[in-house]
Amino acid sequence: MPIATVNPATGETLKTYDALGAEEIERRLAAAEAAFRTHRTTTFAERALLMRRAADLLDEERQDIARVITTEMGKPVKQARAEAAKCAKAMRWYAERAEELLADEEPADVDVKDSGASRVIVRYRPLGPVLAVMPWNFPLWQVIRFAAPALMAGNVGLLKHASNVPQTALYLQDLFRRAGFPEGCFQTLLIGSGEVEKVLRDPRVKAATLTGSEPAGRSVASVAGDEIKKTVLELGGSDPYIVMPSADLDRAARIAVTARVQNTGQSCIAAKRFIVHADVFDAFAERFTAGMKALKVGDPMDEETEVGPLYSERGRADLEELVDDAVEAGATVLCGGERPDRPGWYYSPTVLADITPEMRIHREEAFGPVATLYRAADLDEAVAIANDSPFGLSSNVWTRNGTEVDRFVQDLEAGGVYVNGMTASHPAFPFGGAKRSGYGRELAEHGIREFCNITTVWHGA
Ligand code: NAP
Repeated sequence: MPIATVNPATGETLKTYDALGAEEIERRLAAAEAAFRTHRTTTFAERALLMRRAADLLDEERQDIARVITTEMGKPVKQARAEAAKCAKAMRWYAERAEELLADEEPADVDVKDSGASRVIVRYRPLGPVLAVMPWNFPLWQVIRFAAPALMAGNVGLLKHASNVPQTALYLQDLFRRAGFPEGCFQTLLIGSGEVEKVLRDPRVKAATLTGSEPAGRSVASVAGDEIKKTVLELGGSDPYIVMPSADLDRAARIAVTARVQNTGQSCIAAKRFIVHADVFDAFAERFTAGMKALKVGDPMDEETEVGPLYSERGRADLEELVDDAVEAGATVLCGGERPDRPGWYYSPTVLADITPEMRIHREEAFGPVATLYRAADLDEAVAIANDSPFGLSSNVWTRNGTEVDRFVQDLEAGGVYVNGMTASHPAFPFGGAKRSGYGRELAEHGIREFCNITTVWHGA
């Protein structure tokens, strides 16, 4: 894929970049190694000062970077601004708490004595340069939720961003540099995916995190496995959104629309499969479809726009293929199912019913504003449909019955269960998936510890 900014709202190529050559990659790897030698010895307070400065800069520049993001990947500009604000919040969250989250731990006296030691300390030490392979859909947030904890832990970062967001990728490198992080602490590598293996195999790179599709995850994880390097994988999702008869139906239907079309439906944690109890299916389907039809599709730079273009022509074609396949196999189109008549890579908000397991959309991720509706006879069937997916990122359940909540929490195969609301990440809570949605966790203390060498320091009596 060429490294270029191509505006999804017009299809126009605005800027192209040459990929880094071998010499330049080598220079950056050496800079990362050198930076780590110093950065690892800095105090949490010193790192926090720089991280807060980066957060302040991002806040000041929110409007400008939001416009860059919208130009590069097409999300409505209001959502791009909100993404930047969320990043600044996460940076401050880790600046504030990293020291406490990575504080030395002393196991209970009784266990220390049992081991024959006078004292045992568990220490969280940084690993070194970490390679981050990142997607375009939240081009700031996906990077910051890796970079903020990694830098605060004393690691240094090498970013290989998606090829369609080079300006955002370079902005991030510049942001950390201007905040005062020494050269080499956070570098953007403008390289294609074909160069990732070479960088990952380099002995100076100690670990990798990838957010993206299943094939990309498989490829990076197998190279890392071959090199015995730690990985965190945040992959695709096809999250269920289950509505039971006791739910507040109006709220459930209203939030369902946002849960499906946030980021023009191109979110890993967007609700994608709406599984509704038969007693309330018709009422929910009517309200939900009305909400999807009423969405304002348009220019992503317009403050009123709720649904913009898809990120690329390929992205729209993939989505269209999934819809066409379902319709040919008997799915009913309740709304949408077509391209609106305008330039750019738009696709109308779409609701499909009568989904069967043979349809591709039942198992594959619909990355765009397309919802599938399922009718479930009871809770058991709702759980069975929800779990009949290769993915297990998050899940949403709507019920006012506590026993049902317990059953869902016990049985849903996912990294999150959001009750009477929609999935959303927050710096304080762990985030990650099960099954083919990946492994490892980001955010909270779980995220910052992923790239630490957890060291046992044992002192004899
Ligand atoms: P993608 O095609 O997998 O790309 C993600 C990143 O991986 C890009 O930087 C890409 O580089 C690189 N890449 C692609 N193939 C690779 C390979 N074989 N080896 C090494 N690197 C490779 O995914 P996407 O289309 O950008 O993003 C959408 C996917 O990300 C969806 O499945 C979505 O659900 C998932 N996602 C997951 C989460 C989560 O937290 N679980 C969050 C956001 C998105 P190029 O751009 O140069 O190809």
